Amino acid sequence: MTCGKIDLACTKCRLSEGRTRVVPGAGPCPAKIVFIGEGPGKDEDMRGEPFVGRAGKILTEALENAGVDRSDVFITNLVKCRPPGNRRPRKDEVETCRPYLESEIKAVKPMLACALGQTVANSLLGNKEPMSALVGKDWTVTLGGLTVKMAVAYHPAACLYQRKNLKMFQESIKAALESAGLP
Ligand code: URA
Repeated sequence: MTCGKIDLACTKCRLSEGRTRVVPGAGPCPAKIVFIGEGPGKDEDMRGEPFVGRAGKILTEALENAGVDRSDVFITNLVKCRPPGNRRPRKDEVETCRPYLESEIKAVKPMLACALGQTVANSLLGNKEPMSALVGKDWTVTLGGLTVKMAVAYHPAACLYQRKNLKMFQESIKAALESAGLP
């Protein structure tokens, strides 16, 4: 079941041309916390679910490590279609897709949104701050008419090639969960 109003046949931007499937957010509706990634990768594009590939495994494990089941959180992306070659989503693509994210946030009504990585954080906050200035601070973001607390965590893909980032990632996920009242 999708949460919010997502057009699974959307053709509003160029990303629709290369996708296999629209990838809506997944999880309970409402939920205490929503995790927001950049956009679907290859595995997500094939399966139509967010964070089900290698980065997803790292996210799922970090949640479990903090005592939270993945099925208790809402997980979504800035854009719902895979950018070609896994490039970053462009500003106009993010803007075009934004009503879908807003519709999800309206339905999920989270206590806290957790941006996964700098691209997502900069996009939602409208700033250019580096990760060092983003992680560990309390932010707020207005999405779909709701003003929501926001935390920033490293993107799980940053741990794929640099295992030293894994500890920082797990800590930022744990802190975000705690600030949403989880577990
Ligand atoms: N990376 C993302 O940002 N989102 C996904 O859904 C998968 C990988």
